[in-house]
Amino acid sequence: MKRMFNFGAGPAMLPLPVLQKVQEELLDWHGSGTSVMEMSHRGKHFTSILAEAKDDLRTLLVIPENYEILFLQGGATAQFAAVPLNLLGDKEKADYILTGYWSKKAIAEGKRFANVHIAASSESSGFTQAPLDWMLSDDAAYVHYTANETIHGVEFPEIPDVGDRTLVADMSSNMLSRPFDIKKFGLVYAGAQKNIGPAGLTLAIVRKDLAGKASAHTPTVLDYQAQIEADSCYNTPATFAIYVAGLVFKWLLQEGGLVAMEQKNIKKAQMLYDYIDNSSLYTNPVEKAFRSRMNVPFRLKNENLNDLFLNEAKEKGLIELKGHRAVGGMRASIYNAMPLEGVVALIDFMKEFANRHA
Ligand SMILES: *Cc1c(COP(=O)(O)O)cnc(C)c1O
Repeated sequence: MKRMFNFGAGPAMLPLPVLQKVQEELLDWHGSGTSVMEMSHRGKHFTSILAEAKDDLRTLLVIPENYEILFLQGGATAQFAAVPLNLLGDKEKADYILTGYWSKKAIAEGKRFANVHIAASSESSGFTQAPLDWMLSDDAAYVHYTANETIHGVEFPEIPDVGDRTLVADMSSNMLSRPFDIKKFGLVYAGAQKNIGPAGLTLAIVRKDLAGKASAHTPTVLDYQAQIEADSCYNTPATFAIYVAGLVFKWLLQEGGLVAMEQKNIKKAQMLYDYIDNSSLYTNPVEKAFRSRMNVPFRLKNENLNDLFLNEAKEKGLIELKGHRAVGGMRASIYNAMPLEGVVALIDFMKEFANRHA
């Protein structure tokens, strides 16, 4: 068996020890005689899996009791609708920060439910940085931003200061890559398939006092209050995905938690950006202060070499390096589960390829 280094943006690599644990427990979870896939979501086995996953995530992110952890479905895309449906309350307006492809999607969906005000935008920079000039409203229900733009490779280095306004973040592609202070947020959410676990699961962490104000036509599965009351089991949740995410949380705790993970991520990203900046063949357009630690887009100066680059990379066991169709070029996603050796192997290949095509 040869495992590839998968640089895909999502579904992405999972930690090998997690996959091995899944394999070991697949047919008979802890002597239950069944696979987690076959268990009732209301039975004692799955209830314990869910509770443990929540406890471990609470430990990892130091989540206080006034925040609820929800395991939902529909991806981050469903949250683009759930956010205004739940949080507008008696207001009509919501502030959005435009920083690239995913915030654009959140804005387009938000407009179906809210009076969207673009409070800041980095579009004029070609989405190569976070916006510098902000015009926040005083009558908006919340401020929404995309903490890491997965396609443009732009990440907010700090949590933006929005005073006492309710801050909401799409953290789909950088959740669990570093510690952060959840108390600065009203709500954060993330599709699992980047840095948390398998596709089909969406994580939301919501301050409890913000739930319970969903508009009357909100589908119940998207209503945070209904899901809080049902402990994420208003209907059948993504049981197997929750189980695997729980194993990822345990792996993170074993690896030293998010402080240790952040140090590894800084190192991996630094090595790759340093090489790109010093190479004659590759470029990355993002302002240094806003470069994503998770998604590293780059271009070959000679774009005619793109297909050759991708084919040769694949032969070396380095896959899914093609950039998103919206921006072209290449992209290396280097989430928590990408080991340092994967990044080293990529840089070695890029060097060798550049030497041959200089
Ligand atoms: C992948 C991604 C999404 C879309 O997630 P789905 O789970 O496919 O709905 C939204 N926002 C960001 C930042 C992403 O990376």
